[in-house]
Amino acid sequence: MKKNSVKSYDSEKNLAPYALRSSDSQGRHYPEKEHELRSPFQRDRDRIIHSTAFRRLEYKTQVFVNHEGDHYRTRLTHTLEACQIARTLARALFLNEDLVEAVSLAHDIGHGPFGHAGEWALQEIMKNHGGFEHNVQALRIVEKLEDSYVEFPGLNLTFETREGLKKHPERFYKNPLDRFQTLEAEAADIGDEIAYSTHDLDDGLRSELLREQDLEGVALWDEALGYIHKKYGKINTSKKHRLATRLIVNCLVKDVIEDSAARIHKIKLCSIRDLQKKRNPVIAYSSPMKRRLAELKKFLHQRLYQHYRVVRMTDKGQRFLKALFQVYLQKPAQLPPHVAVRAKRDGVHRAICDYIAGMTDRFAQDEYKRFFEPYERV
Ligand code: MG
Repeated sequence: MKKNSVKSYDSEKNLAPYALRSSDSQGRHYPEKEHELRSPFQRDRDRIIHSTAFRRLEYKTQVFVNHEGDHYRTRLTHTLEACQIARTLARALFLNEDLVEAVSLAHDIGHGPFGHAGEWALQEIMKNHGGFEHNVQALRIVEKLEDSYVEFPGLNLTFETREGLKKHPERFYKNPLDRFQTLEAEAADIGDEIAYSTHDLDDGLRSELLREQDLEGVALWDEALGYIHKKYGKINTSKKHRLATRLIVNCLVKDVIEDSAARIHKIKLCSIRDLQKKRNPVIAYSSPMKRRLAELKKFLHQRLYQHYRVVRMTDKGQRFLKALFQVYLQKPAQLPPHVAVRAKRDGVHRAICDYIAGMTDRFAQDEYKRFFEPYERV
């Protein structure tokens, strides 16, 4: 791995000493001359945005499958919300916003169709064939599967962006503390959590699978409503729900910024080196806020993710995927040529798994129709 030539970029002028500068990057797997205008992390971000896997996020499920409605979050809009929150954290804490952006935008590109249910289906099938996990798949995509560059496979991202994608380091290292830690990756993780916890609540209310009265007793919600009531009195329900969601985002973001800044000061964090081998994240909520968020997440688990209509949506998706996998496996000659080539190289299970994981909900549904509906063209 070649170290970058030392160069300072405008976007990195005001960074804290514990932020990661491009000049400290461990570089790319395939050495490249860096760009004269964009920092290496800006360039990572741009490669991610231009990747096929990123564009597919538009038609992949967050909670509600795509055809259920046009106003629900998709994997793409979730990614944008997560990224936007993480960038706010980064800017307030003087971290490298470009690196945060690159990690955030790529954090979910390993998801298959139909959200977590799709992942469980692939996990079950791949149990004895090397497994499947969306974080591992994200790395596989950026290191191997993206196929647009002449000089290298994948996107040839910097070491730090790739390390940032190893959210569950135990899946990548024998000792999870061997992961190269950056505050930028921590900010991206928290941005993801704040985004899904709040927008899933918003989508749950929008879909009327969640009702306002069910939320009574959830502290974050009660406080937001109390504030709204005091400030505005009685207002339109949908505006009230949107405002409550925004207030909760704001409350979580402010808590993380204040608590993390205090922690950085307390542990006298001065460099990236100080950060390595630390067990607990530095970018984190205060303990009371952590408990309140856990309460909201528990509520969403019980009332939204386990709602019979959500279970129906996702279970239907799982059924499609398993059926498709079996069809391909029984007669691999039905696989398109680019997948057949990979089956020779990586084994038939892995090639089918990569193929299905890459599908959007929509493509998987169309493919299912092509195989199972007699009058559908193949
Ligand atoms: Mg996510």
